[in-house]
Amino acid sequence: MKIIMLGAPGAGKGTQAIMLADKYGIPHISTGDIFRSNIKMGTELGKKAKEYMDQGLLVPDELTTDLVVDRIHQEDCAKGFILDGFPRTIPQAECLTEALAKEDDQMDYAINVDVKDESIINRMAGRRACPNCGATYHLVSLKPKKEGICDRCGEKLILRDDDKPETVKKRLEVYHEMTQPLIDYYEKEGILLTVDGSRDIEVVFDDITRVLEG
Ligand code: AMP
Repeated sequence: MKIIMLGAPGAGKGTQAIMLADKYGIPHISTGDIFRSNIKMGTELGKKAKEYMDQGLLVPDELTTDLVVDRIHQEDCAKGFILDGFPRTIPQAECLTEALAKEDDQMDYAINVDVKDESIINRMAGRRACPNCGATYHLVSLKPKKEGICDRCGEKLILRDDDKPETVKKRLEVYHEMTQPLIDYYEKEGILLTVDGSRDIEVVFDDITRVLEG
């Protein structure tokens, strides 16, 4: 099963992506996590990506697309994968379509987790992330078992620089301009599934899995 998660930053697509990856036993590929781990390791890619990420801007397509195309060709992706945060522009989507078409392959679903901007701004202020494994939590709606500590790996949770309110506003602007057109793109490809992401995490998840398994 090859799935793309679409949706504004903070819509909850990362949380759904992790749950889907766990349920179906396929890799969760988050370009945001890949960039953040490169920043942490101090790689050249990390240094370049950070300049854009800290301003709420997109990392250029040429630094992003090859990375994902290489990743989906690794062995653990043979049975499928979940892309979270990629594609984020029409050129990225076109490169992905072309890379798969070369092998007579295509994505199965693009799941659009739909949430209004004002709810997103409120949500993001409470979001906390694990700097080690990338899991995300929320102070109100998705608390870790132990306050301030990641359930998965035990690391201390943080408010990411790019989740700070001023950066969130910029990220939403960038989302509407650059990423929202992908909803039409995948609708035309006939693989779009839109879910109302304003509801409880479990309810959204049930909605998604019902369609995937139906
Ligand atoms: P995320 O964790 O998916 O919200 O991504 C955090 C940041 O990483 C974004 O605000 C972008 O700066 C950068 N980023 C992640 N994925 C992409 C992508 N596909 N194209 C360009 N920039 C990206």
